[in-house]
Amino acid sequence: MGLTPREKDLTITFDCQFKVKVPDVTLTTLLKAFTYLLPKILVDFIQKALIGYGELVMARKQKPFACPKCGNAERFTWKTRAGKPMEVLTTYAWITLRQMQVQCSSCGTKTSIGRALLGLEPYQRIAPEVRRKLGLLGTLTTFRVAETFMKTFGAAIDKMTIWRAVQKTGEEIAFSLDPKGEARGEADGTGIGIKGIKKRGKELKVLVQYMKGGTIRVAGIDIGSYNGNWNRLFKQSLETLKEFKSFFLVTDGDTSILDGLKEKVKVLYQRCLWHIPHQLKFALWQDKAKVKRKSPEWLSVMGRIYEIVGIRSGIDSDEEIQALVEVKKQSLDALIADCRAKEYKHVVSYLENAKNDLFTGITNKLQGKTTSRIERLFRTVNMRINVSKWTTKGALNVTKVRLAFYYNGFDPENSENPYPEGLNPEVST
Ligand SMILES: [Zn+2]
Repeated sequence: MGLTPREKDLTITFDCQFKVKVPDVTLTTLLKAFTYLLPKILVDFIQKALIGYGELVMARKQKPFACPKCGNAERFTWKTRAGKPMEVLTTYAWITLRQMQVQCSSCGTKTSIGRALLGLEPYQRIAPEVRRKLGLLGTLTTFRVAETFMKTFGAAIDKMTIWRAVQKTGEEIAFSLDPKGEARGEADGTGIGIKGIKKRGKELKVLVQYMKGGTIRVAGIDIGSYNGNWNRLFKQSLETLKEFKSFFLVTDGDTSILDGLKEKVKVLYQRCLWHIPHQLKFALWQDKAKVKRKSPEWLSVMGRIYEIVGIRSGIDSDEEIQALVEVKKQSLDALIADCRAKEYKHVVSYLENAKNDLFTGITNKLQGKTTSRIERLFRTVNMRINVSKWTTKGALNVTKVRLAFYYNGFDPENSENPYPEGLNPEVST
């Protein structure tokens, strides 16, 4: 059965009559009465509109539906305008409508037309548009708070329905690079606390792409174990990556999946400078037998690394950049030598590893100022993750919807086109 074609200038005349007993006419009482009436009025409105439209099309030669058995789309008779109940979710409540049934005059097959007129698939109870709206609500705040807000405005939708809406909406979102965006990006990971699993036990990895105008958008996301591989983060974007002549990627993650693109795409890797002091603290802790936290030696190492990773912006001259990098490399070598002399084994090995990728960005004059932006993105994620219990899959879905809304222009109010380009929704209608 095909979906309803667009009608022009359809006018619905809606008369309704409801009775409600009230003890007084205070605002409190009347708002309460209205809240009580709201779903009843909604059912009446939708049902009357449906039947009215049903009558209209039944009087026409060509129907907006066809017999599922013989394909006849012209000759039908009414069986019932108020058949078996069917449940449909709206943004106000689950409502029960009466099915409308017609009979094919060619082969006698009976068929329900209510869902088709509503734009729903056979047996479908939730329209994608309604689900996305509820899904967004459940990602902006906790399920309990979402439920409370809805209740304030007369909607009665339970937490479980909102939870399911979040999951389904998250599942249909697939981030990827936008070919129209800049050929620069950043891949970063952070620990997220998933209650019920293990404190800080999972790592959220995000690929962000820089956009013209200085904004960022999300181009990939994954939640997995620490030190797990980063393949899933880049997978969706491999094809788009080939469209860029060169792509500058700031990351200290595992990018082995991109190795195959080396011929076609110039990918530049760089340690995330922001992370270096943090990771170095961890290496220092591993060397705690040799260096005590906050001791003068410990502070000296930290002071020197902050100096090394601190990049001054706005240097245009190639020679000056080169000179700056030279000085920084010398300082880093000196720091490594001193740490080696003091037998800070982990610190030495960490710095040796990071050394070669440290100044790629500044050397290419492409040093981003985005580290704070991606940190803000992680905070945006954690504000929601930290206030509910999640499975890994649940955390991934809620994060996808949340980031799509904050960074990628996901707009469920736009029923025609809720997902802008690069969100590649595998739309399941
Ligand atoms: Zn038929």
